[in-house]
Amino acid sequence: MFLFTDHTIQSVFCCCCCSVQEREMRTKVNLEPDTVLVTQYSASQPDVSYESIWKCGHKRQLQFKDKPLPPLPPEAFEDDTDKPRVIALYDFFARGPLDLPLKKSEEYIILEQYDPLWWKARDQHGNEGLIPSNYVTEKKSNLETYKWYCRNMNRSQAELLLHQKPKEGAFVVRDSSRQGLLTLSMYSRAKGSHNGNILHYQIKQNHSGQYYVAENYVFSSVPELIEYHQHNAAGLITRLRHPVGSDGCTSPETARLSYEEWGLNPSELLLLKELGRGQFGVVYLGKWKETIKVAIKTINEGAMSEDDFIEEAKLMMKLSHPKLVQLYGVCTHHKPLYVVTEFMENGCLLSYLRQRRGKLGRDVLLSMCQDVCEGMEYLERNSFIHRDLAARNCLVNEDHVVKVSDFGMARYVIDDEYISSSGAKFPVKWSSPEVFHFKKYSSKSDVWSFGVLMWEVFTEGKMPFETKSNAEVVREISQGNRLYRPHLASHPVYKVMYSCWHEKPEGRPTFAELTVTLRNLTEMT
Ligand code: ADP
Repeated sequence: MFLFTDHTIQSVFCCCCCSVQEREMRTKVNLEPDTVLVTQYSASQPDVSYESIWKCGHKRQLQFKDKPLPPLPPEAFEDDTDKPRVIALYDFFARGPLDLPLKKSEEYIILEQYDPLWWKARDQHGNEGLIPSNYVTEKKSNLETYKWYCRNMNRSQAELLLHQKPKEGAFVVRDSSRQGLLTLSMYSRAKGSHNGNILHYQIKQNHSGQYYVAENYVFSSVPELIEYHQHNAAGLITRLRHPVGSDGCTSPETARLSYEEWGLNPSELLLLKELGRGQFGVVYLGKWKETIKVAIKTINEGAMSEDDFIEEAKLMMKLSHPKLVQLYGVCTHHKPLYVVTEFMENGCLLSYLRQRRGKLGRDVLLSMCQDVCEGMEYLERNSFIHRDLAARNCLVNEDHVVKVSDFGMARYVIDDEYISSSGAKFPVKWSSPEVFHFKKYSSKSDVWSFGVLMWEVFTEGKMPFETKSNAEVVREISQGNRLYRPHLASHPVYKVMYSCWHEKPEGRPTFAELTVTLRNLTEMT
């Protein structure tokens, strides 16, 4: 199948007898303000003559009469038996003419893996196009296809979700802090009481590999276990009545807005309102193709090493993780330069903390640190150093998920006060000794900054080292002094942040280790 950008699809099907069928597909684009771009393919009247290249490499002129083609039998498609089949985890609305829409839980065939993030796929009706690879899963039995399963949900997020939907027997299944295990979290209200409780049951396995929550009821798979308890309490406080898992899981961001859009066209961007001002210039809320909300950073003349950044942006756009603010693209030929990213409704983490002082529970604070840690663990795994991790460089989305932003951007700032470690804007209070002495950045110097970020979170947005000057902070740290324990931080939580401030980088934990430690702490609270 060949896809043309003029919204016309020509397809050639070659079956085993080598006869050729051909039909034209036309895309109908429905562009309504405030709705997502929907692309539908419909068979058109094939009354035209056109040249096509068919599978076996021949070129042919084909003439069609004014008669609609009958639907193609499934066997007309090429042999796909050895091609991977995937299930869509989320709906995906086509945003460009090359994209294929996805419908949650439906099956698709993967034809080509163009790059790790965008794959060419075919749906059950024979439509082909590009899909974001993080919207599908390969294994049919994968739990992610079930409404009740949410992979990236921790204990406090599950509690938040279930309290938002306080129905007797509402439940979600999520990954436990113990690797490979699952936890069933459910909402129940004691008889006569107005207050609901969240109960967490670990789904265990016996020696023959069978799953159970209540020992007397064992099953060969988790879906079977859930189905049984949907009908019978059998040891649980109540039966599992309302699966809420996937309602609470918003679909992840796609890497790039669509496959073809790595260099964005400024005419497709609408600047709506100012969100704030940063090191490089004004940041706006905007819309891409009138449908998708985005943040647009305008870069002031002379504020950034633009050419170096544009080169790096191609790589940065490939970084894609639920806890990283997605870089969608750059308008390279526009002045001022536009840097387009995922829009985060609740703005910067530092202001978020300060505005909600006294209102955020310790478990919520811990869960914020966990979010940042997971994003940083992904960067560490990809050998990407942030260089300026701090609460001011994290953002909060509408679901109150915290994501890491501005990763690597410090390298492109043109401002001596920011670049020089003796400059007033240099983030000394977040910097490890090897950074403020020798500018030696690594994932371990990011770990130091992460410890300071944890301190910012548990003080609900206080300034580290308060009014101390940068020179005083350097002296304090060099003498072995560290930030004090915030009163909202338990001793185990303080122990984690303190471990990030080991004088030597090799004495600090990795983000991978921190992720596990924080997960364990979350389950304990
Ligand atoms: P810089 O890091 O370049 O100094 P920021 O990225 O911090 O600038 O942006 C300045 C402000 O703009 C932030 O504090 C925040 O309020 C807002 N902002 C930036 N990016 C976004 C975004 N993706 N979504 C929502 N608001 C944003």
